[in-house]
Amino acid sequence: MKITFIGTGTMGCTTRCNTSVLIDDILFDIGMGTVKQIERLRIYTKQINYLVISHFHADHFLDIPNLLIGRKIRKETENKLIIIGPKGIRRKTVELMNFTHADGNEHKYDNIEEKYNIEFIELLNEQTYCTEKFKITALSLKYGECTPVNGYILEKEQKVLSYACDTGFCDNYYKMCEKSNYMYSDVTGLKTTDVHMGLEDYKELYKKYPKCKFYAIHRADYNVEGINNIEFPNDGDMLEI
Ligand SMILES: [Zn+2]
Repeated sequence: MKITFIGTGTMGCTTRCNTSVLIDDILFDIGMGTVKQIERLRIYTKQINYLVISHFHADHFLDIPNLLIGRKIRKETENKLIIIGPKGIRRKTVELMNFTHADGNEHKYDNIEEKYNIEFIELLNEQTYCTEKFKITALSLKYGECTPVNGYILEKEQKVLSYACDTGFCDNYYKMCEKSNYMYSDVTGLKTTDVHMGLEDYKELYKKYPKCKFYAIHRADYNVEGINNIEFPNDGDMLEI
């Protein structure tokens, strides 16, 4: 499996792009600027067969028009793109396209699936979808009053990876830690808040979940050094597992 950290920052962060992680052909989240960043890294959008959205905030979702229209311009629509997300994923995508590109035609995106060769898959808590290579399971996370927010467990053979942005600590988050070998998650600041996990608590998780390797993404502009058991990837970093 090839993991590419397209972006590792949080909204308002000035030093890193919005958080987005590519795992083989599955892209997790697509906030403002993600498509340009993918192009800068010379990865190219045609290798993305699955787009997985955690929730409908701008730093996780807003670059969908750039991806759909860009695929069409670059003649990449021969391959179907599967868009997976929480309840409302189709409606929210159509609203976003209407808001940005409808040009007064309110029916322009009625047939969005055919227009862009896409398919929407809505995943509720504990529901699963299987790609050719991976099993993807959604778990509902806790992000203040924002609902719905999905975290995802990705399984391939004996390897289990999880993606959790954005979330505070909650039972489903701990379930993901229990099950995973690799955890990519929201560590927005140094202190834990009502809506985000903080490094002060995140750095203790390895004691309870020793088989899991922890990565801090969705980071604000803080710098830390010398914390064992946590990786702090930067934009464009890649790893094979
Ligand atoms: Zn965010």
